[in-house]
Amino acid sequence: MTVPDIIIAIDGYSSTGKSTLAKLIATEFSFLYLDSGALYRGVTLYAQEKGLISPDNVIDEERLRASLDALDLHFEYTPFGSQTYIGERCVEREIRSLQVSSQVSPVSALAFVRNFVDEKLHEFGRAKRVVMDGRDIGTTVFPQAEIKLFLTARPEIRAQRRYDEMVMKGDSPVLEDIIRNLEERDYIDSHREASPLSRAADAFVLDNSNMTLENEVAWVRGLIQGKFGILE
Ligand code: C5P
Repeated sequence: MTVPDIIIAIDGYSSTGKSTLAKLIATEFSFLYLDSGALYRGVTLYAQEKGLISPDNVIDEERLRASLDALDLHFEYTPFGSQTYIGERCVEREIRSLQVSSQVSPVSALAFVRNFVDEKLHEFGRAKRVVMDGRDIGTTVFPQAEIKLFLTARPEIRAQRRYDEMVMKGDSPVLEDIIRNLEERDYIDSHREASPLSRAADAFVLDNSNMTLENEVAWVRGLIQGKFGILE
């Protein structure tokens, strides 16, 4: 199926499988995949390593703002997908830790952090043929995206998915900690002032609690075919 040059925005709650679906769509249609959450996670890791966040989430905003200019946060594309880098260091594993997950939402609620990330996202968006996942892609970053999806899934399914993902990577997470973290992030992400998580009015909602990945991709393919009148 030949897909026109469009932007596909996938938003939704934490661990609803946005990035898994986005990566599959990117492969299927030869699109660039962009994980906006990885950039927020990268900023959070950077702030933590610089000692700019206290254990109870008090952020030294002034110093963080001043040090963002020196932060070289970018993606490198490998045959295994995109990897997040700070300078020459691959931080893909560190940014997925529970330690980063537990502080990423307060960091990403800061307007200057959002501006820093949005600037990078807009650069990528110029290329079109992009599938981007996050919390505010269809509402704020690319409100003109031709296809917008909003993913949901039942909380226990989301927690189990994140748990399995971490175990696969060799971590030993505690399921209760993951559940608490997902609840906290969803709450902060939905209630912050700057660009809160919400469904764009023209986004299609997909509850994938009981769907296979193949079903999800087929559903998206159908959406695109319908929207652009593509027969096959
Ligand atoms: O998608 P992921 O779970 O990796 O995102 C991590 C965090 O980054 C989210 O919980 C949210 O706080 C923040 N985020 C955001 N806006 C986006 C993407 C992620 O605020 N577009």
